[in-house]
Amino acid sequence: MAANWKMYKTAEQATLFFDAFNPLVDGVNDCEIVIFPASIAIPAAVNAVTRTAIRIGGQNIFWQKEGAYTGEISGEMLYAAGATWVLVGHSERRQYFHETDADVLKKSQSALAAGLTPIICVGERLEDHKAGKTDEVLVRQFAGGIAGLTEEQFANVAIAYEPVWAIGTGQTATPEIASEAHKLIRSETGKRFGRTAAEQLRILYGGSVKPEKCEGLMKEPEIDGVLVGAASLDPEAFAKIVKAA
Ligand code: PEP
Repeated sequence: MAANWKMYKTAEQATLFFDAFNPLVDGVNDCEIVIFPASIAIPAAVNAVTRTAIRIGGQNIFWQKEGAYTGEISGEMLYAAGATWVLVGHSERRQYFHETDADVLKKSQSALAAGLTPIICVGERLEDHKAGKTDEVLVRQFAGGIAGLTEEQFANVAIAYEPVWAIGTGQTATPEIASEAHKLIRSETGKRFGRTAAEQLRILYGGSVKPEKCEGLMKEPEIDGVLVGAASLDPEAFAKIVKAA
């Protein structure tokens, strides 16, 4: 159950979140909880989750280890700060920062090399959805951004299906729509990485997940978790979502 805070919460606000959130999920041990704060709030978040099972991740990564790349952060830097996960290829990164599937592959490889678990995000835009091109887009993103991993690397990634038309719009995909997309991703996985990899792959759904929608989504056998934006900023709402796992 993953929380993408995007460009919200200072370090101080992150600490206040965990003050409220940690007791609400104390005793939850049937799922993994990962929070993705802004990179500047990662040390405060890591500090706030010591002695809990909650893990912290970065929202972005650059593929070089170090160098003259003003404004970028490497996997090694994230790991040294206490992050163990990282989001790769979020649709906002693709839209505003022009990240390509080839970038997604390089970022995923460097995340894995640094000891981070990437959640690789894929999903179709509204026009593709309306034109019935969801499968085509997912197959293309899988081929360009994921299929280039080795089998060993792939065993350590998770994938998030995040239809762009559902992100931040309040238009949650129905459990059936999400499930169909997850099936396709699992089938592409099976073709490239084999049946065991497909069965073991964790696929999260993301896009306007709210506490009242979570139970229906999590009932689908194809949906292994959720990646939550807006609703994860509120400790009570995100705790309810976690408990629907
Ligand atoms: C996201 O940014 O990954 C996301 C799913 O956002 P929201 O839940 O706000 O739609």
